[in-house]
Amino acid sequence: MSMRAGIVVTGTEILTGRITDQNGPWLSHQLLILGVDVAHITICGDRPTDLIAQLRFLADQGVDLIVTSGGLGPTADDLTVATVAEFCTRELRLDPELEEHIAGIIRHHRPHTPDLDAGPTRIGIRKQAQIPTGATALPPTGTAPGVVIPAVAGDRPVPTIVILPGPPGELQAMWPSAITSPAVAEVLTRADDLQQETVRAYGLHEAQLAETLRRAEAEIPDLDRLEITTCLRDGELDMVTRFASGDADLYRRLLDVLAEHHGRQIFSTDGSTIEDQLIDALAGRLIATAESCTGGLIAARLTDRPGSSSYVVGGVVSYSNDAKSDLLDVPAEMIAAHGAVSEQVAAAMAEGARSRLGADVAVSTTGIAGPGGGTEAKPVGTVCFGVAIDGRPTYAITRRFPGDRERVRTLTTTAALHLVVAQLERG
Ligand code: ATP
Ligand code: MG
Repeated sequence: MSMRAGIVVTGTEILTGRITDQNGPWLSHQLLILGVDVAHITICGDRPTDLIAQLRFLADQGVDLIVTSGGLGPTADDLTVATVAEFCTRELRLDPELEEHIAGIIRHHRPHTPDLDAGPTRIGIRKQAQIPTGATALPPTGTAPGVVIPAVAGDRPVPTIVILPGPPGELQAMWPSAITSPAVAEVLTRADDLQQETVRAYGLHEAQLAETLRRAEAEIPDLDRLEITTCLRDGELDMVTRFASGDADLYRRLLDVLAEHHGRQIFSTDGSTIEDQLIDALAGRLIATAESCTGGLIAARLTDRPGSSSYVVGGVVSYSNDAKSDLLDVPAEMIAAHGAVSEQVAAAMAEGARSRLGADVAVSTTGIAGPGGGTEAKPVGTVCFGVAIDGRPTYAITRRFPGDRERVRTLTTTAALHLVVAQLERG
């Protein structure tokens, strides 16, 4: 039997859309890794009655674990611990040791707070040091402790509840101590031994993959034991499969069918992303960018991860014709003759970036992101790419992308990374 969990994200700023929820997706992913199925993620504001209603709902669904985020601070609208305690009909008790611990943290961060031992700061500390009876406090990663309340069986059973702080950094830092606390560890011992694998494809449509999966189902008995989900992201198609470790053979057979039908489009079966593969393919070489219609999005993706300075030299955003000539040495006559959106200019941009920035490899984009600017010969979505690699003729290609401005720019960025990897792998 698989373990199921519910996540309650609290905070009026999240409910109203002022802040995008980061904790629900993060927690869901962590639970999935641990073999726990997440049945629901709910969001409520800072009103206790709404939080109680969501806890009631999740408990009635029979989940084994509820994780909440937010509302652990010292202020009056931070009510999660008191509300959950009320839901579990447990008293709140002041934990003097915890109170001193929190006071110590505040003294450390704000050494000049005058009224730490009296007044509002002390009231706030005392509020945060209130723990429901029978619950375990998790050491603060900001100022607020987390709380774990063990499950209670009975007519209306209450699942194990973990209360975590709202700031994503604090929540994530507290997660290791949450999952090793006895009540949560006990739930996790009953979780499935699940494995999750990801296949990534580029240039493959969801409908084509669905058709192949239907065929695989006909060919492979028991394939329905695998839980397969597909998701289109920035032009790539991810297929995520979850299965019990005993079904690894079934998964291997599925991979064979996929390779047979879409071998060319599948670029990753080991979880690696196109960025990972680009870094591998560069093999110590340095890359630069020359971007027009993507306005720096490729450079942003290349520099997304720490340590990217070991393979990224830099980039030029050359939006105007003058910038293409002045910064990248693209001849003005070439632009006049072929237009800024042309394979000639794309190639010259990549070569210019490579030599001006002293890189081994450079990639360029010049295109029409829209909504205006399209012509019959070069409609909106037309993008020319250049890939210049030291010691080789420069490669240039034109592609057409569907969608609005944002989508064209996103698809162009992904395409540029795939083009560079393909060119580097041609050896
Ligand atoms: P604090 O002591 O900072 O008040 P808290 O545990 O009471 O912590 P909240 O008051 O709910 O947490 O949220 C504090 C801030 O943390 C929010 O204003 C927001 O910036 C961030 N935050 C909270 N929840 C989320 C979330 N689900 N996703 C992203 N950011 C969040
Ligand atoms: Mg708060």
